[in-house]
Amino acid sequence: MNSIWVDQVGYLPNGKKRAVLNFAADEFEVTDVSGKTVLSGHTDHFGTDEISGEDVYVAVFDELDTDGIYRIKAGDATSVSFRISGDVYKGLLKDLLKCFYYLRCGDALDPEYAGKYYHAPCHMASAKVFGEDVPEVDVTGGWHDAGDFGRYSTAGAVAVAHLLYGVRFFGGLLNAGSDIPKVVSAEKKLPDILAEVKVELDFLLKMQRGDGGVWHKVTTLYHAEFIMPEDDHDDLYLFPVSSMATADIAAVFALAYTIYKDYDGVYADKLLAASLKAYAWLEANPEPLLFHNPPGNGTGEYSEDEDISNRFWAACALHEATGEDKYMKDACAKYKSLADYDAHAPRKGYQGDVFTCMGWAEVAGLGSMSLILRNENNALTDSIKQSFMNEAGRLRTVASRNGFNLCMSKADFIWGSNMELLKYMMILSIADGLDGSDQYTDLITSGIDYLLGMNSMDTSYVTGHGEHAYRNPHLRPTVADGIDEPWPGLVSGGPNMGLQDARAKDVDPDSAPMKCYLDHEECYSLNEITIYWNSPFVFVLAYIFQTIK
Ligand SMILES: [Zn+2]
Repeated sequence: MNSIWVDQVGYLPNGKKRAVLNFAADEFEVTDVSGKTVLSGHTDHFGTDEISGEDVYVAVFDELDTDGIYRIKAGDATSVSFRISGDVYKGLLKDLLKCFYYLRCGDALDPEYAGKYYHAPCHMASAKVFGEDVPEVDVTGGWHDAGDFGRYSTAGAVAVAHLLYGVRFFGGLLNAGSDIPKVVSAEKKLPDILAEVKVELDFLLKMQRGDGGVWHKVTTLYHAEFIMPEDDHDDLYLFPVSSMATADIAAVFALAYTIYKDYDGVYADKLLAASLKAYAWLEANPEPLLFHNPPGNGTGEYSEDEDISNRFWAACALHEATGEDKYMKDACAKYKSLADYDAHAPRKGYQGDVFTCMGWAEVAGLGSMSLILRNENNALTDSIKQSFMNEAGRLRTVASRNGFNLCMSKADFIWGSNMELLKYMMILSIADGLDGSDQYTDLITSGIDYLLGMNSMDTSYVTGHGEHAYRNPHLRPTVADGIDEPWPGLVSGGPNMGLQDARAKDVDPDSAPMKCYLDHEECYSLNEITIYWNSPFVFVLAYIFQTIK
C-alpha cells in the first residue's frame, strides 16, 4: 500500500519538517483543510533502509511555518492530518505528565482530577517482609510501575531521575501544568511536576529499611489478572534489599534534594539524610547484593548483573549535591571499575557508551548528568562530556543510514525500543548543550516525529495523540475499566524483534524491525506502558521547548 507517514501530532513552525513515503513519487504537495495546495516540492529518494525494509522517499517542508492543519499528498496517497503550531506539543507534555497521576497507588487519586479514569484506593494493606518473621511495613503510595500493579525501587528511581534531571537542565518544566491537585509544602506551592514526583519520593522513602538498605520491590507474589487495582487484594510482599536499589535511592534522593531545597527545606533535608544513610549502607556492604526473584514469586525481576553503574550514580549525585571530595574520589574509582567491566562483559541490550546509559539497569549516564551539572574542571568530567559528544556523533551516523533520520539501528529494536530511542534523544539533548551548536536538534525532532507517527506502522505510540494513535496498551486498568479509550499520554514500548509474548506470535517474524509491533492489550512485549517510558519523553520535550522558539 502506498503510504505517507507524518508526525500525526504535528510540527513546530521553526522546526524541521519531514515526511516519509514508501513509494516512488518525484513531487509532493501540502494541502490545508480546504484542500488548497499551500506548498509543493520534490522528494529525495533515500532507497531501502534496514530498519523499515521499505524503499523510501523523503519530503521536507521546513519552509511551511504558518499555523494550521494540513495533509501531504503525493501520487494517489494522502497522509493523515497534522498541525503546525507553536503549541503543538503543549497538550502532549501535559498528558505525559498526567499519566503519573493516573498511575498513583494508594489513596491519592481525586475524582475531580482523575475524572472517569478514577480508581478507588488500592494496595492499602501493609506489606509482609518476604522470608522474614518481622512486623509488616506500611509502603503505601507511589506509582504503579507499568501494566501491572508492582512498585519497583530501581525503576521508580530512574523515572524520577529523568523528570528531575529534566527540571535541572531545562527549568521550563517547572511551568508545565499537569491538572493535578495542588500541593502547598511547608514553605511554598510546589510546581505540578514536583508535586507529582513527591508522590513517588514519599513512597521510596518508605522503601528504605532502618539500616539504610532499600527493598528491591513491593508486589504481590504474582501479577494480578486484568482487574482494577482496588480489586487486587492479594498479600503484598517486600522483596529483599539489593545494592542496586539502595544505590539508586541514594542517588535520586541527592538529586531531589538539590531541587526541593528551594521549596521545602525540611523535606529536602529529610531526602538528603536518607540518601546519606543509603550511601553509608553501600559503604558497609561493598560487595554487590544482586536480586533474583525467589521461588514462588513471578512479578517483575529488574535484575542486573552488577551494581557498579548504580554506585557510580550515587557517588556522582552526592558529589553534585554536597560538593564533598569523598564522593568525587568514589566516582573516579567506580568509573574505572565500570569501564573495566564494560570492556569485558557481554553487552545486554544497549549500544554505545555505557557512561551515557540511562535505563533502569545501566544508570551510569544519570551519574554523568550530575557531573555535567556540577561542571567542575577535572579529568572525570572531561571524559564524561567526551562520552556524550562521541555518542551523539555515533547517533548521527546511525541516523544517516535510514530515510527517517532516526538514530536507531536494527539492534535497538528490542523490548521497549521506544525507550532506547528516547534515551538517545536525552543524550543528544545534553550533547547539544555541551557544544551549544544546536546541531542535534534535527535528530531529536525526527525522533519525536517517529514516535508520533512517522514510522512504517503509521502509528502514534502515544495514546490520544494522533489520528492513528495506538489504543490497546497492556495496562490492567484500561482493560478492566470498561472505558473505550485509554487515558491519553501513555507511551508504548513499541516495536520489538524479540516478539516475546504469545500474542506477538501473530506478527510475521520476518518483518522489518520497525514493523515488529501489534496494538494488542495482550502484547506485553510490544505494547506495555511504564513510568520510565513516559519520563524520558518529558525530558526531551523540555529540551524542545527551550531550544525551538
Ligand atoms: Zn495500587
